[in-house]
Amino acid sequence: MSLRVSKNVVVIGGGLAGLSAALYLARAGRMVTLFERRSTLGGRAATHRRSGFRFNLGPHAWFRGGAGSRVLRELGVPVSGGVPKRSGRAIYRGAQHALPTTVAGLLTTSLLSLRAKREAAALMIRLRFLDARRLAGLSLQEWIDGQTTDEALRQVIAAIIRLTTYTHAPRQQSATAAIAQLQMAARRGVLFVHDGWQRIVDALHSAAVGAGVNFVTSARVVRVVHNGAVEGIEIGGLEEDATTDTYSMTLEEALRAYRGARLNADTVVMAVDPATATSLLDPEDQLPDWWPAITPVQIACLDVAVESMPQPRATFALGIDRPLYYAAHSAYAQLAPKGGALIHVARYLPPVGTGTHSERDSGEQELEMMLDGLQPGWRERLVHSRFLPRMTVSNILLRPGDDGGGRAATRVNGIRNLYVAGDWVGDEGMMSDAALSSAMAAARAVIADNP
Ligand SMILES: Cc1cc2nc3c(=O)[nH]c(=O)nc-3n(C[C@H](O)[C@H](O)[C@H](O)COP(=O)(O)OP(=O)(O)OC[C@H]3O[C@@H](n4cnc5c(N)ncnc54)[C@H](O)[C@@H]3O)c2cc1C
Repeated sequence: MSLRVSKNVVVIGGGLAGLSAALYLARAGRMVTLFERRSTLGGRAATHRRSGFRFNLGPHAWFRGGAGSRVLRELGVPVSGGVPKRSGRAIYRGAQHALPTTVAGLLTTSLLSLRAKREAAALMIRLRFLDARRLAGLSLQEWIDGQTTDEALRQVIAAIIRLTTYTHAPRQQSATAAIAQLQMAARRGVLFVHDGWQRIVDALHSAAVGAGVNFVTSARVVRVVHNGAVEGIEIGGLEEDATTDTYSMTLEEALRAYRGARLNADTVVMAVDPATATSLLDPEDQLPDWWPAITPVQIACLDVAVESMPQPRATFALGIDRPLYYAAHSAYAQLAPKGGALIHVARYLPPVGTGTHSERDSGEQELEMMLDGLQPGWRERLVHSRFLPRMTVSNILLRPGDDGGGRAATRVNGIRNLYVAGDWVGDEGMMSDAALSSAMAAARAVIADNP
């Protein structure tokens, strides 16, 4: 069974990248159909409602100065939320100290010696003017080692960069990418988004519907069909029902009925992870060998809703000698019913294939213990909690050798009118910034190649 839609673009994946590429292309006059394998849109930016609380998938902070902000501004999609304070607590060898992320924190912290404080102050100033590109080829650890010999300060620097990059891999991580991310985050800070990131997803979705994008959810694309140029896609799932009357159906209904069917398409944008993108192509397609094998960056998350916070002032903490994160996002964004609080605790995991077994398999217990230290008595006020042992924050770890690239190009080599978008594509930003920036680049490439 073959359906035909003329002059069309198929977008595979309904996360931030797929939604923004679809919106941009529809506004440019293309007929766009977006396929999402799940029943709901949003991918990793989805927010789930539980007992009136809004649970993002782990801690999500919107970088106000990042490429994603620029893209959403261009698309006319607003992002609103609260700006969290940078002050908080540092947890080092089991004890709490002031976090030296502000001038007051640096002056008062019991974590650093006077000498280390002076070094930290000088480093803060140096960082403002440092051209991150000059660190090309260096690992983050090599860069940190060059800044100070003070062990506590080294660990503080690593912890702050872990916070802004979500990456716990100083020896494998590119110093250029990490420092550029730190500088961007330090300049404009972050937002905790009101109602959760689903609000961004919903705003992109309604703008896309307004621009004429067709959405087909619960529809997994299983293959991109091509003969050197894109010809269409195949949708997996149920067998076709030969008795179905397609003439009275909407496109969506027809596609549901004809799962396993082929849909002709002039152009395809794959806004999915690299392993899925690879699986949609034939094994003989000449992709770079690293495409499916790139290392994801992951964290373990404990998301907790409580009736009220036993310690309302404890809104932010970072592990210094252990890669732990804690923040009460509801202290800044509307995520909880009146009086309630939504708290995210997380452990940054070492890259797949590195680290010890216990480092990679962080238990819920460790995160609960962190919460015990910061919010004693939280268990008695618990409304709902969710443990996500291994979430992929980014599909790619940016390594030192990758400074000039390392990520996939927007155009898929050797297959005309096939494009990719996502956090593992392009050359700008990290995480959602990379996803949105590459989506825009893919949409622009589609238009440039077929004006
Ligand atoms: C715990 C956690 C914390 C994070 N924190 C931050 C943060 O603080 N700041 C930040 O900027 N970013 C953060 N991120 C990253 C951010 O969520 C992602 O960068 C962004 O949501 C990725 O969007 P995407 O569209 O590229 O990918 P995804 O959201 O993964 O979307 C891909 C979509 O494709 C669909 N799909 C896959 N295969 C198929 C198929 N065969 N057919 C049809 N559909 C398919 C999937 O179901 C999914 O909906 C975090 C992520 C996580 C997990």
